[in-house]
Amino acid sequence: MSEVARKSEGENQTRKRRPRGRPKGLRISVRQSEQITAICTRLGLPDTLLTFRDVAAALSQRAGFTVSLGTVHRYAKGEYPKRPELRALFRLPKIAHVPACAECGGVHLRRSCPNKAKATRKPRRRATLRTERLLTWAVLTLMSGVNR
Ligand SMILES: [Zn+2]
Repeated sequence: MSEVARKSEGENQTRKRRPRGRPKGLRISVRQSEQITAICTRLGLPDTLLTFRDVAAALSQRAGFTVSLGTVHRYAKGEYPKRPELRALFRLPKIAHVPACAECGGVHLRRSCPNKAKATRKPRRRATLRTERLLTWAVLTLMSGVNR
């Protein structure tokens, strides 16, 4: 082995020994994630909670039944629970059964479907009648002018 090769090998070893990144076992900053901060402010939970597990435990304690970690995760993603007791716990509005529209499948507050009403609107009759009258009048006056 040449001297140059040995030298480069030695450099590689020192490079490997040099610590990289944040030192292990040392937390430089402990901060809530934005998602957890949002949940805590929305549900009135203490700011000391740092993980989804802590949030689930705090909610379970508040509710009196177990709130799963998955439920909290889904809530954070915007996938809200459907069970009424969970919805009350997460301060979500109640879900009601409402008949869907037979025409379009949507939910309307009025009985008639607004989407169907737009599609089957009849053209105005008044306008056509007015133009017909105007045309006959014009033709008649022209004819009478020619006859004179
Ligand atoms: Zn409809």
